Amino acid sequence: MPYKGYQSITVSQQVYERVKKKAEKETKSVSSYVGELLACYMEAEEKLSRYAPFIELFGFEGNSIILRDHKINRVVDVYLHEKQLYCAHDESKDCMHVSFCFALPQLRRVIRG
Ligand SMILES: [Zn+2]
Repeated sequence: MPYKGYQSITVSQQVYERVKKKAEKETKSVSSYVGELLACYMEAEEKLSRYAPFIELFGFEGNSIILRDHKINRVVDVYLHEKQLYCAHDESKDCMHVSFCFALPQLRRVIRG
């Protein structure tokens, strides 16, 4: 039974094993590791949907982040080159798409790592 003020969730065995390995590396319990990760992820998601509600993360492909921009109705490719992000659509390092990518929690880890 979860503690008061907590809820338990169910994940697949594979996901659990992967998360457990990560948590062990950071010497955290699986629960607190997942809790922190989710809180951080949700916060970023909410920030992004307020900041750029028309941009949607489509996926990752090699060194690229694929976005869908509903305003221009196009798929936009933002790629990582020497720890810098470039937008192929705007040919820019500081357009909306690049800012969007910088706010992604997944990406912060990629750049740091
Ligand atoms: Zn752009």
